[in-house]
Amino acid sequence: MGVMGARIAVMSGAYNQLLDAAIQHLQELKECGVRFVALSPESLAGLSQARPAAPVRSVPVPPAPTPRPVAKPLVSPTPPPTKPVAPKSALAQTLSLPLPGEAPTPVAAPALSPEAKAAAFAELRQRALACVRCPNLASARKNVVFGVGDINAQLMFIGEAPGADEDDQGEPFVGKAGQLLSKIIQAMGLTRGSVYIGNILKCRPDTPGQASGNRKPTPEEMQTCIPYLHEQIDLIRPRVIVALGGTAVEGLLGKTIGITKLRGQWRTYRGIPLMPTYHPAYLLRNQAPSEKRRVWEDMLQVMGRLGLPISQKQRSFFLKAAG
Ligand code: URA
Repeated sequence: MGVMGARIAVMSGAYNQLLDAAIQHLQELKECGVRFVALSPESLAGLSQARPAAPVRSVPVPPAPTPRPVAKPLVSPTPPPTKPVAPKSALAQTLSLPLPGEAPTPVAAPALSPEAKAAAFAELRQRALACVRCPNLASARKNVVFGVGDINAQLMFIGEAPGADEDDQGEPFVGKAGQLLSKIIQAMGLTRGSVYIGNILKCRPDTPGQASGNRKPTPEEMQTCIPYLHEQIDLIRPRVIVALGGTAVEGLLGKTIGITKLRGQWRTYRGIPLMPTYHPAYLLRNQAPSEKRRVWEDMLQVMGRLGLPISQKQRSFFLKAAG
């Protein structure tokens, strides 16, 4: 498996893009009330065939880096069956079972061994760190902000783009909004180290001539950068994705409807259940308890979907205050 497996896994092909577009289109039809679509017998036969074999990337895969010490993930997948393993906890077993109504995640390649996965992720990271596809962003950045957390996480948070603090530190969500995101993650009974946090854009959007401030990524920047995120998602294979804010939803789903309408409703992205919610920066601007409660309700849905335990106290966070 090794190098070949890693090569296949880092591939993010046209097949997935077509699949996304088809799923998206069908969802939109469903939203418009369409319940049936006409299909020719040929298309139906084509759909029931196995997916095309993934083309192999020509990029050489470097040896796996020295593993960094990582916090034991709370939400971790089934270990590979090569070594005898200790019986899993009830929680871990719950988390690795498919959920009712949840289709198995269609991914670009079969699950990799932990070594091949780490190697593929390291190779992807190296490519992203050296990226100059957006020359203006590459020349303005201090750091490429690739992502942080457990590459075996079952929950992935995706934001918009690094801000000044993230650009300084090379880590997503470390500024004020990031601190709030960390609190939300903790309130869910998780840690930053047990989930994976990334962004649509890996570089801070430049603001030429401005001493401070942020700007929204352009559609071109998002389109240029999103293949890295696709490869991250395909390698991590999370069971649930949380899209933080309207730009993340726009970058992932192409929707410009507005986060107020979309939040709290499950979507699918690359075959993975996706929950759109407000960006933590919005909660910092709008401190109304009702808004906090809305985000919290979205997180309760995520916890439910992952089979995480939810205490009575957790269920009632922000409830009284929200009125
Ligand atoms: N906002 C984002 O969307 N991402 C970050 O990494 C930080 C703030």
